[in-house]
Amino acid sequence: MKIVLLGAPGSGKGTHAQRLTKELNIPQISTGDIFRKNLKEETPLGLQVKEIMAKGQLVPDAITVAIVKDRLAQDDCANGYILDGFPRSLVQAEELDKFEDVQFAVNIDVDKQAVIDRLSGRRFCPDCNGTYHVSTLNGQDKCPNCGGTLITRQDDSEQTVRDRLDVYEKTTMPLIDYYARQGKLVNVDGNGTIEEVYNRVLRAIGK
Ligand code: AMP
Repeated sequence: MKIVLLGAPGSGKGTHAQRLTKELNIPQISTGDIFRKNLKEETPLGLQVKEIMAKGQLVPDAITVAIVKDRLAQDDCANGYILDGFPRSLVQAEELDKFEDVQFAVNIDVDKQAVIDRLSGRRFCPDCNGTYHVSTLNGQDKCPNCGGTLITRQDDSEQTVRDRLDVYEKTTMPLIDYYARQGKLVNVDGNGTIEEVYNRVLRAIGK
């Protein structure tokens, strides 16, 4: 099953992608995680995207598409994948259509204020890529999954969150219509508990 997860930053794409990957036994391809790994390892790509990510802007389409094309050509993607955070622009979606035929674009729809609250309280584990909200951590700063030290992502600061939401509204939201025109769009109400939303996502893809 080839799935694209659409939704604003903080809509829960990553959380649901991590669960889907276990349930469907297909990989989660998160361009954000790929860029963050390169940043951490200070690769040439990491250095190239550092400033862009810190400002909450999009990495150029050509770079992003090349990375995804390469990743989807690997053996573990043969039976499908969950694209989390890609495509994020019309150009990326059109490029993806040239080498892949995705089945569903699942759009997780969340109120803007809820997204701001979620992102500003978000804590991230750089070791296992787990994402949590302060309200569920009872003051602890260790990852409940792997024990790593939780951090606040630099791009979850208030101004960057606002910038990322602007980018989302201008550049990524048109993808909702793009996939609707192709008959691939499924809309999911992203408000509610993780469990509730996840069950809606499963229903949306016929599981
Ligand atoms: P995310 O973890 O998906 O919120 O991504 C974090 C950051 O990585 C974004 O704010 C962008 O700077 C960059 N990024 C991730 N995915 C893409 C993409 N598909 N196109 C361009 N930039 C991206």
